[in-house]
Amino acid sequence: MLSDAELARYARQILLPGFDIAGQERLKGARVLVLGLGGLGSPAALYLAGAGVGTLVLADGDVVETSNLQRQLCHTEADCGRNKAESAAAAIIARNAGVAVEVLPQHLDEAALGRLLPGLDLVLDCSDNYPVRYALNRASLRHAVPVVSAAAVRTEAQVAVLDPVRGGPCYRCMYPQAGADTALSCSESGVLGPVVGIAGSLQALEAIKLLSGCAEPLRDNLLIMDLATLDFQRLRVGRREGCADCGGG
Ligand SMILES: [Zn+2]
Repeated sequence: MLSDAELARYARQILLPGFDIAGQERLKGARVLVLGLGGLGSPAALYLAGAGVGTLVLADGDVVETSNLQRQLCHTEADCGRNKAESAAAAIIARNAGVAVEVLPQHLDEAALGRLLPGLDLVLDCSDNYPVRYALNRASLRHAVPVVSAAAVRTEAQVAVLDPVRGGPCYRCMYPQAGADTALSCSESGVLGPVVGIAGSLQALEAIKLLSGCAEPLRDNLLIMDLATLDFQRLRVGRREGCADCGGG
């Protein structure tokens, strides 16, 4: 049940065709992990909080540095030296005190993800390295939790919705081997703030679609964006035969 205050607060999205009060109630009942509170996780978590997702679990083991402030919108100068999940939690509560926030100020390995995922409706993969992405992929396959994945470096970004239980590819089907830029490293390759901002905002958008049912999410497609030229491409992707994680087929 939504209160009158909630109906007023979320009126702009409740008005949307296909969203309605039922969509808002589904958002309120959802429990979502945002893995990484950097350039992707900042806008993603802020938009999910703004939209009224009931519970946000925020996980990040890093601390805020001044070089993060160019693009990581959850954090301010006063947060430098503070854990990113704790800093993001403060920003989210300031935006919407009605959201329940759980803070995990640490890096999560596959075992920790395995314990966490059974209670979740969705994960936003906003991490920045392949080992974490592969560990999350295996845990999400085991516990049948969909993942909205994104990556951004330089002026390029990619977004995908991974929901193998419903027949699509897993993360490893799309990226069978860790890339040459193993750290997906913004520190080595550079990145523009709005590039990660767009990718993180799209993660929030896809999450809201998945949770509310208001529109069809980006299933079975990889969205590739070159923000230098503003070329957007949707590539249809299927399961990879012999995938090391899901078996493919
Ligand atoms: Zn696979």
